[in-house]
Amino acid sequence: MTKVALALDDARELATRCLVANGCDKANAGAIADSMVRAEADICESHGLFRVPGYVAALSSGKVNGKADPKIGPVAPGVLRMDGDGGFSPLALERGEEPLAAAAKEQGIAALAITDTYHVSALWQEVEALAKHNLAALAVHTSKAVVAPAGGNKPFFGTDPMAFAWPRRDGPPMAFDQATSVRAKGEVLIAARDGHEMALGIGIGPDGNPTTDPNLILKGALLPFGGYKGAAIGLMIELLSASLIGEWCAFEQSEGDNNDGGPTRGGELLVAFDPTKFGNGEDWLDHSEALFERLLSQDGTRLPGDRRLANRKRTPTEEISIPKSLYDNIVELT
Ligand code: NDP
Repeated sequence: MTKVALALDDARELATRCLVANGCDKANAGAIADSMVRAEADICESHGLFRVPGYVAALSSGKVNGKADPKIGPVAPGVLRMDGDGGFSPLALERGEEPLAAAAKEQGIAALAITDTYHVSALWQEVEALAKHNLAALAVHTSKAVVAPAGGNKPFFGTDPMAFAWPRRDGPPMAFDQATSVRAKGEVLIAARDGHEMALGIGIGPDGNPTTDPNLILKGALLPFGGYKGAAIGLMIELLSASLIGEWCAFEQSEGDNNDGGPTRGGELLVAFDPTKFGNGEDWLDHSEALFERLLSQDGTRLPGDRRLANRKRTPTEEISIPKSLYDNIVELT
């Protein structure tokens, strides 16, 4: 596949220009471009510039408000609510970070319910941002139904990602971020685009049988990781990111979406914990560092997020590369 090399700043500029050309204001375009470029910097292709055509599709169909002005306010002690104003999630997340961090520091624990947004970015970004305030953070979100429930063979759950971050003594926080499907849908889309087979066990075709063909998986369903255990976590994520905060579950997103190819309307729940407010004083950091050290003393181990962080060290100077077809498509859309 022919690729185009780009510096991170050029990728940001290209994405911003394309989003503004398609109806975003500068605040929204900047926040979305920043989120995609952070994904590119960590070589998370499925949440990088690959998403530009989907963002543009949702702007072009009129589904998403490119000039959204998200507003945040308290609804209970320790609970904040963000009205996303029908926009994409990055600006809402950007505006929610400081108020949520401040509330968690004041009370020990605080939550932020984000509603009326269209979310398609990687969740490690928001939990990592909170962990940089010396907070532990959890984020859950659901999207359109693409994952079969345990025992079922039709899409019911979203890929329902869950991310968690923990501050480190030195360097960036530890952050894991995983879909509750065996693989994220973006990776199935990329495999379909590039003509690659997927491993058996990732999904089933429309006939309910296991398949390695990403195009059949997209017509059938992805599978939850760990069978019924992953499905139970998906159920919890739907309850927390939809039922709890008054947003759409995955099946409602599928029924309510206009299928323009962009993200669907959904909510996100973020919870932040101040480790100094749980009665363990400052010991929490020594204790967690000892935990990481003990884990890493086993050969073959690494912490979640280490692959991304290693990539992040290289990309400010090394150029990233994106498929030429994607680059041409973005230029054409601009
Ligand atoms: P992966 O299965 O690739 O990785 C999941 C986590 O496991 C990562 O934190 C990864 O760290 C870690 N990990 C991988 N291998 C190891 C290992 N050997 N030892 C320790 N940790 C390891 O991710 P998914 O495919 O499940 O999810 C991909 C992305 O898709 C996520 O960022 C998620 O937020 C996003 N997503 C977004 C949705 C949305 O609607 N906004 C919907 C669904 C998913 P590392 O990254 O360092 O490899």
